[in-house]
Amino acid sequence: MSGKIQAIRGMHDILPERSALWQHLEDRVRNVLEAYGYREMRTPLVEVTELFKRSIGEVTDIVEKEMYSFEDRGGDQLSLRPEGTASCVRAAIEHGLLDQPQRIWYRGPMFRRERPQRGRYRQFHQIGVEVLGLTGPDIDLETILLTRRFWQALGLDGLRLEINSLGDAPERARYRGALTDYLDTHRDALDEDSRKRLTTNPLRVLDSKDPGTRAVIDGAPSLIDFLGEETRGHFDQLCAGLDAAGIDYHVNPRLVRGLDYYNRTVFEWITDALGAQGTVCAGGRYDGLVEQLGGKATPAVGFAMGVERLLELIDADAVRGGPDAYLVAVGERAQQQALLLAERLRERMPGLRLLCHCGGGSFKSQFKKADRSGARWALVLGDDELDNGSIGLKPLREAGAQRAVTLDALPAALSETTAAGGEPTHS
Ligand code: ATP
Ligand code: MG
Repeated sequence: MSGKIQAIRGMHDILPERSALWQHLEDRVRNVLEAYGYREMRTPLVEVTELFKRSIGEVTDIVEKEMYSFEDRGGDQLSLRPEGTASCVRAAIEHGLLDQPQRIWYRGPMFRRERPQRGRYRQFHQIGVEVLGLTGPDIDLETILLTRRFWQALGLDGLRLEINSLGDAPERARYRGALTDYLDTHRDALDEDSRKRLTTNPLRVLDSKDPGTRAVIDGAPSLIDFLGEETRGHFDQLCAGLDAAGIDYHVNPRLVRGLDYYNRTVFEWITDALGAQGTVCAGGRYDGLVEQLGGKATPAVGFAMGVERLLELIDADAVRGGPDAYLVAVGERAQQQALLLAERLRERMPGLRLLCHCGGGSFKSQFKKADRSGARWALVLGDDELDNGSIGLKPLREAGAQRAVTLDALPAALSETTAAGGEPTHS
């Protein structure tokens, strides 16, 4: 009965040495969101299964194959959330948030039982936004401007933007007929799933990742040719806005997204640096969803970013975790005083990240730990320092001898290079 228990395949621990990187991304993204007036919403990780069936769609990969669904002890059919939009809309309806436009963001784990591989996990994390109550192409443009600012804030380049319009329901219905006719003539070349979806949900075929099916799709009619005047105008205005903002984009007429609720604008940001899992951000308009979930008709647009995929693009070495300073205490008297001195230093220097050595040991072994902690400075407390109210200051990440600094002068000495005083530490 003593075998080791391990984490579930495709679900990962985020260890302390990686968490600085996560926090770096989350902080930067949150700053941008706040600069655009977004407010955070937190919803439960578990919802009734019906919510996802009705929003994402019964005939989608997520609902057919990927959800973690179960019956709870009371007999309710529940699922771990596979994405965030459905929950946000459910909550907005439930709490009466729809009488004025809402700019909402969320973050957290999502769950899909996919085949684990690089960039594809069973528990993964998204940061997403939902705008409820705005209908024009201006807000579509603003959400894309917002994403561009994320990439700037995170120092990411080389992402490309693909956009498309899925039109409105009547246009999609006309297109569905033309697409079905076309796919039917190539039935034999389609994968099994796609053959089934030919009758249940032919648009989903465009989202297939099967190479044979993809070859057929290349010759399929384009939805964009079926748009009416109004939806075409919406799309053209978005394109004009992107041009004016200097954002490069590619109109990809095959871009349909894997969830049924989208209409009109859809977009993805894609990198070539992550192989097949190259989409780091995806979204679009979903004007019918609120009504479909029982709310009053409300236009909406949103997107979600895959945090793990974005993190792979960030230079982890540039983000320094760990403390600013490590307090080393030499001798019995100093060891007794160290914790109290550390308290005083934290009070004097809000924002200082100070790790105080505990557990005794020789000067040498304490210094080794100071070095391994990643701290930029060692602070050394010994008998002399105790007697004259000073502290030894030694840089650990660059050459430099230890020097004595009075406690009064310490904040200035540290704030040259550390977070003490409120400056962000990571570059
Ligand atoms: P894909 O085509 O890669 O399966 P998707 O269309 O299923 O993506 P969405 O539901 O639009 O993805 O989710 C938005 C983003 O969340 C994706 O662009 C991706 O960055 C991320 N994402 C989706 N599924 C996973 C997963 N299993 N593991 C890690 N990230 C994921
Ligand atoms: Mg998927």
